[in-house]
Amino acid sequence: MARLQILELPEGADDDRPPFVLVIDEYVPQRYITAGGSEFKAHDPFEGVAKKIGARGVLIFDEPIEIPANETSAGAGGYSVKAQVEGGSSRALARVRGLHSPVDHQGQTICSECSAYDLASRTTDSRPVAYDQCRTLQVLNGPPA
Ligand SMILES: [Zn+2]
Repeated sequence: MARLQILELPEGADDDRPPFVLVIDEYVPQRYITAGGSEFKAHDPFEGVAKKIGARGVLIFDEPIEIPANETSAGAGGYSVKAQVEGGSSRALARVRGLHSPVDHQGQTICSECSAYDLASRTTDSRPVAYDQCRTLQVLNGPPA
């Protein structure tokens, strides 16, 4: 089961907020079955995500990645260090969820981000991805690792 983690980076003098990268591990790439005659179009579900959530980048691994700073241990106030990190990253996760919002497209509910939906022209730049097939939301909503 893929996991989303935040890796905080050393803060520079010009940073107005702590820099971080989104780390996704145990990720299994999404595969499409195209209809006969349709043209396959490569799709990166994380394209543009870093910029939109304010991360410096997105690191994706197929193997488990342990970030020592995210290890569970007793922290200040009796909360685990992991819970504190998750609390601090909840706004980033909310932005990811907001990015992958449902939109009605020709009678089908699709993921606006994964489908590269253009609100003005009401068209998709990518192959429409059904909202319940959004891999990012499946990862976010999956059972805990
Ligand atoms: Zn999506």
